[in-house]
Amino acid sequence: MPLLATHINYFFVCKRKLWLFSNGINMEHTSDTVYDGKMLHENSYPQRAQKHNEMELSAQYGDIELTGKIDFYDAATKTIHETKRSDKVETAHEWQAKFYIWLLELNGISDATATLEYPKLRQTNQVQFTETDRQRLQALVHEIREMIASENCPPRINSKICKSCSYFELCYVGE
Ligand code: SF4
Repeated sequence: MPLLATHINYFFVCKRKLWLFSNGINMEHTSDTVYDGKMLHENSYPQRAQKHNEMELSAQYGDIELTGKIDFYDAATKTIHETKRSDKVETAHEWQAKFYIWLLELNGISDATATLEYPKLRQTNQVQFTETDRQRLQALVHEIREMIASENCPPRINSKICKSCSYFELCYVGE
């Protein structure tokens, strides 16, 4: 299985969620989530929806295959635009965007940046990519691969985000 932007996102949200997802326990209604995100993007930025398609990118990093799907890429300004349905700015979103920038770089497109758009917050955040970020991602993909290959599922995080997680019942059943 290739390493996806979702793996990067889950690494920062919850290691247990990352492990469950990667080991085939998928309770996320992915198609609905993707559909909702697409609708949000198209409703928030209709002019883009008419003119542009999502961009799917893959790259090989050593023996690891990397894959990601970008909402919208403006080639003129080398800017990735990601629309988030969340009502909260999250570190996971930022690293997911950095992963996309790295994927572009591995495909020969350097010096891209990203804009995270939060229609519910009426806010946009700019994401830059540094040498430190590149090194962090290079190490991270190995760390994630080792983590998901482990037989041990990481412990619950007992966080307030658990209540809105699709694995809530699985993690806390019987309590
Ligand atoms: S319910 Fe909480 S501990 Fe369980 S996978 Fe989700 S975020 Fe992680």
